Amino acid sequence: MALFSRKDKYIRINPNRSTVQATPQTKPEVPDELFDKCPSCKKTIYQKDLGEAKTCPFCSYNFRISAKERITLLVDENSFDELFTGIETANPLNFPGYKEKLDDTRQKTGLDEAVLTGTAHIHGQKVALGIMDANFIMASMGTVVGEKITRLFEMAKEKNLPVVLFTASGGARMQEGIMSLMQMAKISAAVKQHSNAGLFYLTVLTDPTTGGVTASFAMEGDVILAEPQTLVGFAGRRVIENTVRETLPDDFQKAEFLLEHGFVDKIVKRQDLRDTIGLLLKLHGGVV
Ligand SMILES: [Zn+2]
Repeated sequence: MALFSRKDKYIRINPNRSTVQATPQTKPEVPDELFDKCPSCKKTIYQKDLGEAKTCPFCSYNFRISAKERITLLVDENSFDELFTGIETANPLNFPGYKEKLDDTRQKTGLDEAVLTGTAHIHGQKVALGIMDANFIMASMGTVVGEKITRLFEMAKEKNLPVVLFTASGGARMQEGIMSLMQMAKISAAVKQHSNAGLFYLTVLTDPTTGGVTASFAMEGDVILAEPQTLVGFAGRRVIENTVRETLPDDFQKAEFLLEHGFVDKIVKRQDLRDTIGLLLKLHGGVV
């Protein structure tokens, strides 16, 4: 049956010649950006089904979103005022190529550093808000990130505001060496002063929150929320396994594991964060 061995799949009848002609097989053109594959459940998702919150409709996996997208999801419309921009690193180690990398990343992300800071209203309540963005050199913490977050807490203390901080980080920024590590102590001191003034500090752990950020201000919140399946840890899994010479549970360093062991207060779906944060601010005497 020659017909079934044909490579051309589609046939059409030419009415003028009353013969059967094959049309050349062409692949339908589907733009890549129309679909995404979920890294968690591996299902293919139509981009539009991800919605504004960018979560998998099958398993609720959270796709990475930028700091600016978070602001749209979180705060009252047009209420965000950005603060502490234009601070530049002195490149303390003269790390080769660092300045170029920063310039390039600034252009690609439209951010000036790995954290966006300012004030905003959530359900009508004014807050000092910081959002780390993993698209900016994995939201690593260098001197500028440290300075911006420190100033955020100092401003919040001065103006009697609660602080809401979304954390994400690959850890300290290696290009700035020990200067990066010093930010842990510097921010923690500012957190303590804010706390001593009786003010509320809320952290939201987003994927991934690791290294020096976890070891300092990410875990210092009065209330610690996390998005589902967020990776939270200090050292990497393999480093720990090699050190303790034990196989770790599959969900080790996941937000759900941390909740079970008392390090996280509540896991909140991305779509519910705005309402949950609004309620927590209200319970802690929200400032209007
Ligand atoms: Zn999924």
